[in-house]
Amino acid sequence: MKVYPEAFADYIERYSRQIMVLGVQNQLKLSKARVAIIGCGATGSSVAEVLARAGVGFIRIVDMDFTEISNLHRVHLYTEADARNSILKAFACRRHLVEINSSIEVESIATAVDSSNIEELVGDVDLVIDGTDNIETRLLINEACVKLSKPWIMIGVEGWYGMVKFIDAAKTACLRCFITSTPRRRQNACNIIGVVNTAVFITTAIASTLALKHLLGCDVDEELFIIDSYSLHIKRVKVLKNSRCPVCGLNIFEHLSKSDESNIRICGGNSVEIRPQRKVEIMLEKLKKEMFRRENIIIEDHIAYIHRDGVQMALFRDGRALIKGITDVEEAKKLYHSILDELRKYVAD
Ligand SMILES: [Zn+2]
Repeated sequence: MKVYPEAFADYIERYSRQIMVLGVQNQLKLSKARVAIIGCGATGSSVAEVLARAGVGFIRIVDMDFTEISNLHRVHLYTEADARNSILKAFACRRHLVEINSSIEVESIATAVDSSNIEELVGDVDLVIDGTDNIETRLLINEACVKLSKPWIMIGVEGWYGMVKFIDAAKTACLRCFITSTPRRRQNACNIIGVVNTAVFITTAIASTLALKHLLGCDVDEELFIIDSYSLHIKRVKVLKNSRCPVCGLNIFEHLSKSDESNIRICGGNSVEIRPQRKVEIMLEKLKKEMFRRENIIIEDHIAYIHRDGVQMALFRDGRALIKGITDVEEAKKLYHSILDELRKYVAD
């Protein structure tokens, strides 16, 4: 972020109460900091809001999910209107963060995170925040961050409980040091077990504190924090680095070397992403101009939201689509091709 002289007084005023604690130089450090948040559900959006208000200069939000009414009890930022219109979380999050702090840069990327894109998503930032809801993606983030020497913060919530761990493999244990086996199947804690919102807020307050300490260049507490938001006990558990850890010890990156899947289910198990096999361009501007003929299409944030028989599809300019409300991948592909066929006038090869 550039701070121009004429805007400097406004800058100082905005952060004045924080500057009283941190000092101007540290505030400027935050303005230059870059953070990627992988997953912006309950935990990711909560940390995103704290970092945006604190003045972190660049925040990348990555999520492929749609906002739903069942998210609202625990997810910061999102509104009933976002849920009613099934806005993609990454874009709803970006919009609200920019409303809160228009002086920072917020990038939204709606995609499934996998071995084909994780290194690019985390490669140019100072810190990675885990806002995901499953261990498999956390293990992938862990491998990418160890490989690229990026610090990251693991966050998990479940019921009344939360867990937070700052991981910088050069100094601390990595996730694989203390998670000794890979799960057999993908699990989504939020879908199976449920969570109380205070567990989210206490846990993410700790995670945000660790994030700010790292971005300010302070020593960061490296213990595993285990939070009981009901009894209000917070336990700090020392986790030792494992010299025989396959990831940070032996540099074996099992998850990074897995081949890319073209369709991936997400939290709730009812959404898939389809990536086109050939290069196409959806002419969204032309589609928007002729919108009056198509009541079931809304163009927002350069995305075409298409409703069809209880199914919601978000179609991007590059032909990529996220489809919610379908559990069968083949059925999703069929719908995708039929919609692209209907819109062929707006598709350039
Ligand atoms: Zn390790």
